[in-house]
Amino acid sequence: MMELKGIPASPGIVTGKAFLYLDDNPPIPKYDISPSIIPLELERFEEAQRKAIRELEILKQRTNSEMSEETVGVLDSHLMLLQDPEVRERIVEELYAQKKNIEWVIHMTIQSYLEKLNHTSDPYLRERTADINDVTRRVLNHLLHRERISLSDIGEEVILVGKDLLPSEAIAMNKRMILGIALDEGGKTSHTAILARAFEIPAVLGLREITKHVHTGDEILIDGNRGIVILKPDEATKTYYMKTLEARTKKEVELLSLNELPAETKDGKLICLMGNIEVPEEVEALKGHGAEGVGLYRSEFLFLNPGRLPSEQMQYEAYRRVLEAMEGKTVTIRTLDLGGDKIIPDLVDANEKNPLLGWRAIRFCLSRVNIFRTQLRALFRASVHGKLQIMFPMISGIEELNQTLELVEQVKQDLRSEGVPFNEKVAIGCMIEIPSAALTSDVLARKVEFFSIGTNDLIQYTIAVDRGNQRTAYLYEPFHPAVLRLIRMTVENAHAVGIPVAMCGEMAGDPLATVILLGLGLDELSMNAFSIPAVKKIIRSVSMAEAEELVGTVMEMRSGKEIDTYVRQLMEKRFDLNTY
Ligand code: PEP
Ligand code: MG
Repeated sequence: MMELKGIPASPGIVTGKAFLYLDDNPPIPKYDISPSIIPLELERFEEAQRKAIRELEILKQRTNSEMSEETVGVLDSHLMLLQDPEVRERIVEELYAQKKNIEWVIHMTIQSYLEKLNHTSDPYLRERTADINDVTRRVLNHLLHRERISLSDIGEEVILVGKDLLPSEAIAMNKRMILGIALDEGGKTSHTAILARAFEIPAVLGLREITKHVHTGDEILIDGNRGIVILKPDEATKTYYMKTLEARTKKEVELLSLNELPAETKDGKLICLMGNIEVPEEVEALKGHGAEGVGLYRSEFLFLNPGRLPSEQMQYEAYRRVLEAMEGKTVTIRTLDLGGDKIIPDLVDANEKNPLLGWRAIRFCLSRVNIFRTQLRALFRASVHGKLQIMFPMISGIEELNQTLELVEQVKQDLRSEGVPFNEKVAIGCMIEIPSAALTSDVLARKVEFFSIGTNDLIQYTIAVDRGNQRTAYLYEPFHPAVLRLIRMTVENAHAVGIPVAMCGEMAGDPLATVILLGLGLDELSMNAFSIPAVKKIIRSVSMAEAEELVGTVMEMRSGKEIDTYVRQLMEKRFDLNTY
């Protein structure tokens, strides 16, 4: 038995067999063959092709009943590529010309084809490279007798153990079979952690070396609440954890009884509790936990399928689905926030030196105006199906905001002249997640109808600490006085011109922060569905006077550690935070 401590990223306790996911690229062998071997090499190629087609067809059958149209579309395009006669012809020609083994010939032919694609000016063709790479790997894996490693193919229940996981891989994995996730890398607010919570998969990240200790098939136990992973747990340990799980489940059921009650302080201040979603399917969980609306829909997750951009119609349908499902409650959709750790190879520059400070979110959208325009059109078209709000990520200052608002006006004008119906009164908001935006929030507040504070990035940029880096995770302090001052300043500037302020970063759903956020004057808190009941319970147990007094005290303190220790003691005395 061995215990490892990491970062608790998604709650829940689970045991199961490990699946070690190390997605390495194997070296491709290269050797000469005599002309008489060529027909045999061709046979091997055809057999590998047949196996890959069969594999994709099985995956498609399963996917059809479980997953989105988008995923099925990707599988279809892979099937088409595999059966493309032109590609086959090129490979056969090269095999006769080069007289090398078939793996090498395929590899080189596809590489030169990809080179050409990378230089075309057609973005659609350039974006096909991810698909071509994927299909080629599938065929090569069969030729090299490697087991196909793809998270969407996993057919038995496992606990996924790996170095790191891209958000696009997390989106594509077969969620029904992934019982838990344990990774060397990652922090609490990395997008993989956010997705694990969204999919209700217990996860511990930032474990540093778990991949060195685990083999596929080993039994492991994950406690996502406390950030603990136990390798080869003994019976006594398993029993202890199962009892803890039972106690937590009981507490959860108790908290759910608050669902129909308002989030109101003892002295009558109402706070709006909303939910964050990444995919439309999460709406049901929000409704089941008493969310009063959607405070953040991270629309970029629609874009994370490699190889193709979602069309205006496909986006419209996804937005409409969420709006209709929320039955007239507010739905806040954030426009595309790609970049940083949400990379689509070939669309966003994957080789930037500082991606977190680089070409991401609104910066990307304002330079790829066609992509942005398509999204805005889809959003406004969907606005007739519910109560939509739109907000923009990573606004750094007034010029960027003005440019964005101009584009919004253009899109509305286009729709008007085309006679396409939309709601003229869709509220427009701005995220405050860069210190420069918080510091100029008095200027920004005059231009929008609401603010939403993204603390995940605000903390990252204020303290200059990468939110996904486990080595510096100890510096990532939500209660750092600099962060609290920026939040207070933002709220004051917004309230001075009469606009509300929401918070949609992970801090909003942390029960430890609830009383401070009340005292700082936040009007709305948006979080993952499962945090809503616990936060509501705390709100209903305190008064605004108490919350303001606490804020008065902590704002005098000099460090995040000092504030954290003080708040933790105070909150633990009043609430049993361990079970939250
Ligand atoms: C944030 O930065 O707090 C936020 C909500 O956005 P994301 O986590 O998607 O960057
Ligand atoms: Mg952000």
